[in-house]
Amino acid sequence: LDAPLFADVAGDAAVSFEFFPPKTEKMDGTLWESIATLSPLAPRFVSVTYGAGGTTRERTHATVARIARETGIPVAAHLTCVEATCDEIDAVANDYWNAGVRHIVALRGDPPTVGAKFESPKGGYANAAALVAGLRKLHPFEISVAAYPECHPDSSDATADIDNLKRKIDAGATRAITQFFFEPETFFRFRDAAAAAGISAEIVPGIMPVMSFAAVQKMSAMCGTDVPAWMARLFEGLDDHPAARQLVAATVAAELCRKLYAGGERAFHFYTLNRAELSYAICHLLGLRPQAVAERQAA
Ligand code: FAD
Repeated sequence: LDAPLFADVAGDAAVSFEFFPPKTEKMDGTLWESIATLSPLAPRFVSVTYGAGGTTRERTHATVARIARETGIPVAAHLTCVEATCDEIDAVANDYWNAGVRHIVALRGDPPTVGAKFESPKGGYANAAALVAGLRKLHPFEISVAAYPECHPDSSDATADIDNLKRKIDAGATRAITQFFFEPETFFRFRDAAAAAGISAEIVPGIMPVMSFAAVQKMSAMCGTDVPAWMARLFEGLDDHPAARQLVAATVAAELCRKLYAGGERAFHFYTLNRAELSYAICHLLGLRPQAVAERQAA
């Protein structure tokens, strides 16, 4: 308790930021302002999501291509197996390769109808592990996959879920990025279980700063993330106080990162929802500074 706040962080964290492809001109403006704010922190990569059912195929591609062209930040394109044949997915992956994109976040995806069960399309990839194997055959992509510290809702149990992650890594994925979670112990337990199962690939904690508590509760219910009671108490009464809510959100997420850092984690993936401020503040508390990052890169 006597230690100065965040005195134990050394500014040596590697961060990545996730964005979604904007739908409107206004959202496009917000995204690019956020990229401009976050890029001086020299993320090791940024990634762009792929809408359910491939609904954002063109927009994802356009956003990825523009980030690659205009920022020089390594960019990863998310790709899913939903409602497309292997040939169609391979064609999208080939387009990425030809556009200079070398990193794919390979996912099974979810059906476009919320709550519907995933069915592998005829001639399609059955799951993310099959997609990883397919991508590996096409090009030497760097491949990230998803991991679930609180178990994927389709999993029979935690062991089956870890086995599934191992299949994805064994098929050729380089790293796993986790679903968001709110208790550091949740991540540490999962990290230990993955190591015990022989998974040595990097597992990067996915951090979701709370922009709207109601939205986080809704997303958490869908993906099986536990929202602790203490969080509900912290965000209580803040719906109409956006500035106060943002301060609380930064505190909560930074504290999670600080504990993960103390537990040995040096990489963090931020679900930015295309807004920079919270992620920037948390990175700042983790000791990242634009200049220091630039010097480290030049060294
Ligand atoms: P998989 O790893 O294939 O499997 C999910 C579950 O299915 C497994 O846990 C397992 O229970 C079961 N399963 C799979 N194969 C088998 C098998 N052979 N035998 C038995 N059970 C099996 N969704 C999007 O639509 N677009 C995105 O851009 C996107 N980005 C994401 C990024 C991250 C970092 C994360 C964590 C999730 C993302 N998602 C995205 C959500 C993801 O698509 C869903 O969670 C989806 O339901 C599962 O995808 P997966 O790649 O984890 O699937």
